[in-house]
Amino acid sequence: MVSSNEPMHACSGKKRKHEMGDNADCVEECSRPKEIQGEKDVMENDVNCVKEGARLIEIQGEKCEMKDNANCAEEGGRPKEIQGEKDEMEDNANCVEEGAEPKEIQGGMELEKTAQSVESMDRISHLPDHVIHQILSLLRNVKDAIRTSSFSKRWRSLWYSYGVLIFDEHKFAAGIEPEDGSNKESMFRDYVTDTLRTYLEKCSQIQKLLLHMTSYDLVDTPVVDSWLTFSFAANIKELDLHIGFKDSKRYTVPDIVFSSQTLTGLRISGCILQSCSNITLPHLQKLYLRKIHLAEHIVLNLISCCPSIEDLRFIQCSGLKYLFVYNLISLNRVEIHNCNQLKNVDICAPNLDTFWFSGKKSTPCKVSLELCKSLKKLTIEHPQVTRDFCENQYFKFPLLEKLDLCISDKMKSISIFNPCLKRLALKGCKKLSYAQIVAPNLVSFELKGESMPFVDFFPFCLTDAKLSFESKTEGRDVGLGHGNKLWFMMRPFISRFNPEGFKLVIHSNKNIIIHEDLNTVKYPPLPNLGFEIIKASACLEDILYGLLRTLHPVSVSVISSSDSKFPESVYEMIKIKDEDDPVCCRYNTSKNKCWRHFLKDVKFENWEEMLDVGEASEDVNTSTLYFWLQLSYTTMPCQMRNLGLSWNSHQPDVET
Ligand SMILES: [Zn+2]
Repeated sequence: MVSSNEPMHACSGKKRKHEMGDNADCVEECSRPKEIQGEKDVMENDVNCVKEGARLIEIQGEKCEMKDNANCAEEGGRPKEIQGEKDEMEDNANCVEEGAEPKEIQGGMELEKTAQSVESMDRISHLPDHVIHQILSLLRNVKDAIRTSSFSKRWRSLWYSYGVLIFDEHKFAAGIEPEDGSNKESMFRDYVTDTLRTYLEKCSQIQKLLLHMTSYDLVDTPVVDSWLTFSFAANIKELDLHIGFKDSKRYTVPDIVFSSQTLTGLRISGCILQSCSNITLPHLQKLYLRKIHLAEHIVLNLISCCPSIEDLRFIQCSGLKYLFVYNLISLNRVEIHNCNQLKNVDICAPNLDTFWFSGKKSTPCKVSLELCKSLKKLTIEHPQVTRDFCENQYFKFPLLEKLDLCISDKMKSISIFNPCLKRLALKGCKKLSYAQIVAPNLVSFELKGESMPFVDFFPFCLTDAKLSFESKTEGRDVGLGHGNKLWFMMRPFISRFNPEGFKLVIHSNKNIIIHEDLNTVKYPPLPNLGFEIIKASACLEDILYGLLRTLHPVSVSVISSSDSKFPESVYEMIKIKDEDDPVCCRYNTSKNKCWRHFLKDVKFENWEEMLDVGEASEDVNTSTLYFWLQLSYTTMPCQMRNLGLSWNSHQPDVET
């Protein structure tokens, strides 16, 4: 069935939109919780789909923020420019398939088209090697990469020289029609064997091998062993081995993996690691272990034989109670996520830049970062560990720039003193009533929880502040006009900002209120509100688009000075731009489109219409809000405009 000469045929049945829109799957498969995935610097090193988002930034040569990545991930994980490139590539491929020389040329237009096509073909052929490698690295699997080889011999040779082999059984199986009746599991094994063999006949080196296997059984051991043996004989540089397991049927990683002069990256998930007496990985820089049962001596032995490790991660590993890391002079980043049997983590690394720890609060763990004087980014998502850090440790890091803490339920006050700190997030605030922050260089502040503490700080450099509240314990009385406890705490916080320099976005689950400045802010009597105080207008668009995507709100109210054009500019941001299908993410599958594809209508509404909608609304919050808005703002010397939004529950059926 599968011919070694035509490896791509093995899974070429499925249309390509499936592959391009598969980010959701990728994210699910990803090893870490969603919040962690969102983080940009994690994304750079993580699974392919996420990696693509981050890589695009390098290609575009632009500095992007987290939210850009989030958008990339949501909107198909693919940069627009790359999408464009790909589109062009496909067009050219089609052009080649259909015959580069059209039999009939009808008039000048056709001639011109052909000339353009040849020209763009030529452009692709003459891209520098590193750009072609970049494009190949963005392709989702071997099949796509092989397809590019139809462009020119140079692309084919570059694919071989690039040497990234991606075998993902989940995606492979999805490419075979269900009625096919074929044995997908054996087809996948044949496909991997044949592709590897064909590749190695032509090329002696593998840059990276990604093997994600979902249907492993113990009888597969010799086959998987042989793939790894071939790969290590080809001086592999990176291995990403993810073997799904059932019960105790796990794949045991063979010793050959731990003896390589070329390996720089090793990521193992779902396998068994046995103690190995002869570990030699002198150039290993990245080691990620996920869903593996570990013992102290195995980890110690492994780490001590990998002197070049820069990036070390443990994700959902069991068995490990004590983790000691020292003598790793290059160690730059350590992450530990949900290794819930850990009791003690001790890291001594003079060049550590980033440390991230998350775990269940019910399983206490002691974390010590001795002599980690270079630490710049610290994230702790474990209330008990956070408390210990707040009391004893975090002042040990004089260079700290980013601090993200999930604080203890019981913590009532916190003091943070750090001259270098630029970004601070305090999450899980339940009882926190006082936060003293002495951080003159702080540019970004985030607070999340159930209560608003008194925040004692001066936002000298602050450009954005994000506050979100969930009312779980504190019943909020819906008292029109009077506000409540939360609002009393909000007011002094807002008053610290320059009223003209900042905008405020308030959102509930279905309504958004935007203040052009902070002069006339009042507090809406709704539960579960989010607040974003932002300086630059450019950020407003990002925040608004993010809210439109997640909330599909029914209204956006804009409060501004009487003669301001601000309400129109907000309308411009969200108005429906085309009669037809929006082109913003036309390469994505329907489940993966942005908010524009769901928006049915947006228009300015007058008060009568709004109140009618409010009365007709089954959502009590919406009707309360409209009533309150009218009461609060229509009598003030400011302008309030309302945009009513209606949404299609499904994206209109316009296929790309
Ligand atoms: Zn779109």
